[in-house]
Amino acid sequence: MAYDDENIFAKILRGEIPCDKVYEDDHALAFNDISPQRPVHVLVIPKGRYVDADDFAANASDAEIAGLFRAVGEVAKKTDVAKDGYRILSNIGAHGHQEVPHFHIHVFGGADTGPMIKRQE
Ligand code: 5GP
Repeated sequence: MAYDDENIFAKILRGEIPCDKVYEDDHALAFNDISPQRPVHVLVIPKGRYVDADDFAANASDAEIAGLFRAVGEVAKKTDVAKDGYRILSNIGAHGHQEVPHFHIHVFGGADTGPMIKRQE
């Protein structure tokens, strides 16, 4: 799938739409989810144009990949979720129910995140 420059996270990166920023560095931006599913629900996105985790793994530079995961760690530190544990998750494509076609990692915490998804029969 080609990257869509009009997706909502591209607009946030260009400053056309505001966000509640949690962390930013050269490679990544992190901001609170507009519709939080847990007390802490932060989205960590690369600054580069990547559709999803699949695209990112195949095409991002080593520095971008390291930068994104370091940013997740910084978010965990800033939101103080590491002591009790937290969950990171990324939805990919149709079966993954991805809504926004710019790669993002969800960071959930501040409360029990519940069991992992169960297979539907
Ligand atoms: P996905 O389903 O693609 O993994 O998750 C997209 C996430 O983006 C959802 O949790 C949704 O609440 C969040 N989201 C959608 N639009 C906006 C927005 O304009 N601002 C922020 N901060 N989050 C958004």
